Amino acid sequence: MGYRMSSVSLLGLTIGASFDDVAKAIILETRRRGYTRAESVACVSTGIQESGLRMVWSPNGLWFGYFQQDSSYPNRMDPYGNIVGFLDRLDKKRGSAGASPDPFKNIFWLQQRPGDPSAELAFQRGRQAYLAEIERHVAQAEQLHDRLVGGQPVEAQPMNRPDFNEYPIWSASNSGRDGATIDLFLLHTQEGNGNADSLARWLSSPTNEVSYHYTISEDYNDHGVTVCDVVDTDRCSWSALSANRRSINLCFAGSRASWSREEWLRQSRAIDVAAYLVAQDCMKYNIAPNVIPGPNYNADPPGISDHRYCTNYLKDGNTHTDVGDNFPWDVFEAALHKYAKPAAVRPAPGFQYPPTEEMIKQIWEQLFGFKARGWEDLFGKTANGSRGKFTVEAIADLYRRIDALTHDKNDANEDKSTKKPNSPKDKGRSSG
Ligand SMILES: [Zn+2]
Repeated sequence: MGYRMSSVSLLGLTIGASFDDVAKAIILETRRRGYTRAESVACVSTGIQESGLRMVWSPNGLWFGYFQQDSSYPNRMDPYGNIVGFLDRLDKKRGSAGASPDPFKNIFWLQQRPGDPSAELAFQRGRQAYLAEIERHVAQAEQLHDRLVGGQPVEAQPMNRPDFNEYPIWSASNSGRDGATIDLFLLHTQEGNGNADSLARWLSSPTNEVSYHYTISEDYNDHGVTVCDVVDTDRCSWSALSANRRSINLCFAGSRASWSREEWLRQSRAIDVAAYLVAQDCMKYNIAPNVIPGPNYNADPPGISDHRYCTNYLKDGNTHTDVGDNFPWDVFEAALHKYAKPAAVRPAPGFQYPPTEEMIKQIWEQLFGFKARGWEDLFGKTANGSRGKFTVEAIADLYRRIDALTHDKNDANEDKSTKKPNSPKDKGRSSG
């Protein structure tokens, strides 16, 4: 897909990051994606409403983080993953035919009724008060925006992004991944003449029933590199039969498996950009960036290889032999290491304790609920209805109920004259 995960703007964002730091991370990431000021502000206002810009659980324990994500967001526990996950899905909404010119309505659509065909219908059918709720913090979000990034130039792309043009020419030749884990990135040749654009247009015809996620080519005259997005990487392209569900596929347009190294190196800028795309998707999908070059493949997935890897090593029913013997894997791998480097400074996905101050806040919230409003959804309200019950009050309720049950049982036992004498619990209590 067209979106590239930032390796720059969100670095250093931890689970206990300050309100300002979180707001700034959201603003920078939205600007990097080409959002207007109004769109960035809408995202920050929503985050303030949903979480106060903190990595917290909803009172009912179902949603987590700045944007209150459910468990369908795989990286919601990670501050970076929470923001990126929200914006990835928002990008699809705002870039689709059903999008509204009002950025808040696109957020409404995503957060309230993502299955509806348009933002407007979602608003008509949904809980309309939610729109006012997420708009409530606009003034504060505008101030944050202008104070934190006002006057700074838009950071359009990560600093190490190579120069290339990228645009979508979508193909209907794709399908769902059925929950498969992506563990391969496969390179292909076209075995024909053309460039990224002409190949993508051919793939976009449903009668051809073949596709890749990306087509790429370098112009032989001006050496500009073009990338066409043909299939969203969240879905399968139709490139490598039974390997489709587990792989992301890129085709060098105009290339042939019979090419010499010299012929390949005439596409060296396209190879460099391909490595950049691979690095971004490896970070996004947690694919280890291991290059498994042919022809003597010597490693199991995960990794980056070619179509022939499926044929010769996985023996999964594929028969193609691209990208051939002379693809410059050394050049590709060097470029990949250049672009994959930022992954090393991303927070490791393993468990990590939050800062002490954050842990204290979380303990407080376990005891007294979000913003000390108690746990209404879990334990009900206090007798005067002023707030939800605190955890200790709920335990007291629970104790009273158990006590009442025990009491009833003792009464019943008393009737049968089997009550134990000297039960400490019965001391000082009038018999019922
Ligand atoms: Zn192939």
